[in-house]
Amino acid sequence: MKEIDKEENSITRRDFLKLAICLPLLRLADKISINEDENEVVIFRRVEINSPFYALTIDDCWLPDVFKEMLDVLDEKEVRVDFFPVGVAVLNLENKMPGIWQRVANEGHKIGYHTMYHNDESPYLSTREYIEDFDLWKRSLVSVMGEKNLEKSFSGLARAVGGYFSPQFLSFCRIKGLIPCGWSITPTPENFRQGHKVRPGDIVLYHVRKTDLEYLRWLLSEPGIKLNATDINSLILLKEENEKNKSISNKLIID
Ligand SMILES: [Zn+2]
Repeated sequence: MKEIDKEENSITRRDFLKLAICLPLLRLADKISINEDENEVVIFRRVEINSPFYALTIDDCWLPDVFKEMLDVLDEKEVRVDFFPVGVAVLNLENKMPGIWQRVANEGHKIGYHTMYHNDESPYLSTREYIEDFDLWKRSLVSVMGEKNLEKSFSGLARAVGGYFSPQFLSFCRIKGLIPCGWSITPTPENFRQGHKVRPGDIVLYHVRKTDLEYLRWLLSEPGIKLNATDINSLILLKEENEKNKSISNKLIID
């Protein structure tokens, strides 16, 4: 593993907040992603919530046909999710199915960073290389959906390849004001039968591949899962609303 770039890693919490000020997830970044230690970024893996909701995330996006079918399933079930597409896959999909990313934006899904190339070197980039890679990734999205749509659809979340959240990746997230986002479960009918159920606040991970398309269909129609799927931003807003309502009802009781 490469050494941490000390200079890049020395950014303070205040610097981070200054850099993050224009991002929609600033409030979330302040609440969720930063620990007491000003140099530590916490990886966001689930949301503490009691309401019957979980977040659905779908990674990579290499296969055009499967991607389109997944969009159809989500549309039919009226579910919005977070995609973490690879930059090259974004361009590839658009090439095969012009307008597909416009559709993703129109249907209200969110998009997070998952590197430009997703290759063997991706987990081992330096902080500076991640920053450059992020710019390439962003440019690929702008080229297929336009700046305004990306602004609307960008979640402010970043997922490391293979879940390998290296110090360099975390440092890059801090500099760019992104929230590193992992996951808590990949539900399948088999692990469901074994008792590994989706819980409120879980962040579900699927990929754009045939097996996961079947799992997605199953997950969204399995009556035993008495929870609703949504995107991460909505899940956090629900949590905030719950807390607000709780404090109002506490106040009413006290008053
Ligand atoms: Zn991936």
